[in-house]
Amino acid sequence: MELLKKKILEVGRVEGDGILKVDSFLNHQLDVELLNEIGKEFYRLFKDYNITKILTAEVSGIAIAAITAQYFKVPVVFAKKTQSKNLDKDTYEGEVYSYTKDITYKIRVSKRYLDKKDNILIVDDFLANGQALLGLKQIIDSANCNLKGVGIVIEKGFQKGGKLIRDKGINVKSLAIIEEMKDGNIIFK
Ligand code: 5GP
Repeated sequence: MELLKKKILEVGRVEGDGILKVDSFLNHQLDVELLNEIGKEFYRLFKDYNITKILTAEVSGIAIAAITAQYFKVPVVFAKKTQSKNLDKDTYEGEVYSYTKDITYKIRVSKRYLDKKDNILIVDDFLANGQALLGLKQIIDSANCNLKGVGIVIEKGFQKGGKLIRDKGINVKSLAIIEEMKDGNIIFK
């Protein structure tokens, strides 16, 4: 998606450890006009899959999912990372391993909000090692619903997640795929 790539080149900052900071439009401040274009693009890519629900993980996925959902006219469910008192006891769980923090944490969705008839589109901000997606897939599998596709805003193609997820036969579409980040320069695939 050219508009997105242009924005990444304009304001993205490469940090050590291969991290791309896009706080100014995606992860802290939100560029709603750009998010609208992202939502439209996900709709164009997945409109023929009879999507009934969009699934993401808190926090960064929520804004993308909510804007995208307006085009599909379906609800958004976001997996929670903490087990607070106001989350139903009866939940589907997934495990996510974080390479950066070297910890495994649980994500949860109340059983009320996933049905085996649901056709799910997962959306998320980044695809790096693919662990967040695996955790969300675990939840979908436990609920016996159908994973129809995954929409990613930025895929770091130099990390192994893209291959890991596509090798499982999952239909992943990334709007910008970064091949290389070297000396502060971003090179797209
Ligand atoms: P995973 O390694 O599981 O594919 O990535 C998990 C999560 O880590 C993503 O959803 C995203 O929130 C975060 N993440 C991974 N790489 C980056 C990055 O380069 N920049 C930012 N801002 N977040 C990232």
